[in-house]
Amino acid sequence: ISNLNKTYKSAGHILTVLDDISFTVTAGSTNAIVGPSGSGKTTLLGLCAGLDSATDGIVELKDINLGSLTEDKRAQMRNKHVGFIFQNFQLLPTLTALENVMVPLELRGEKNINARAIDLLDKVGLADRSHHYPAQLSGGEQQRVSLARAFSNSPSILFADEPTGNLDAETSEKVIKLIFDLNKEAGTTLVLVTHDLDLAAKTNRILKIKGGKLISDEKTGNE
Ligand code: ATP
Repeated sequence: ISNLNKTYKSAGHILTVLDDISFTVTAGSTNAIVGPSGSGKTTLLGLCAGLDSATDGIVELKDINLGSLTEDKRAQMRNKHVGFIFQNFQLLPTLTALENVMVPLELRGEKNINARAIDLLDKVGLADRSHHYPAQLSGGEQQRVSLARAFSNSPSILFADEPTGNLDAETSEKVIKLIFDLNKEAGTTLVLVTHDLDLAAKTNRILKIKGGKLISDEKTGNE
């Protein structure tokens, strides 16, 4: 991303949420974005993933400028390359766990989607909850369904917003392992927004955001 700015207009004022942020994420690397509440982390993640558009600046994914694409083409790029784990899971409440995982597979016109979705739920330890609706699942279980959904397109890059936010220590460990296994086994690039400094320390690089500015960008020494 280069010289990224995001502003909102509210009640006649212009609110600058991201101010001239530039960095490059290397394929296969693991990266943490940290910073105080309200500093712009979620906004930044959404822009990087092409879920939202910048006011100014460039977001490139695989050398393609996302801002130059139509919304349809941008959605295609996302479906093909990007996995996203939302802070509040964003599962569809009227669909079962299995159906939630099947949605992106169906959108991409894949075959055997039922069996594939069951495999994905099995991978996150939830095969026995496949017919439960989100409201019938615990927070940690919903988070793991959202993980299975994010893994379903074998993404080149996975963005996760507070992936361990509301989880107990044990579930948190499981979720972290699943995410880092994806990096080790499939080379998936990771960009994680987190308040958990232990989790950030497990990545290759920590980017700190404060007041919408990138105030530090350091390698952790992990390879
Ligand atoms: P947290 O750690 O609490 O999740 P964050 O660092 O992820 O916070 P953001 O959610 O990116 O912060 O929000 C950054 C700022 O942008 C906040 O001050 C927020 O109020 C503002 N903001 C976000 N979305 C909008 C919007 N749609 N309209 C106006 N302001 C917004």
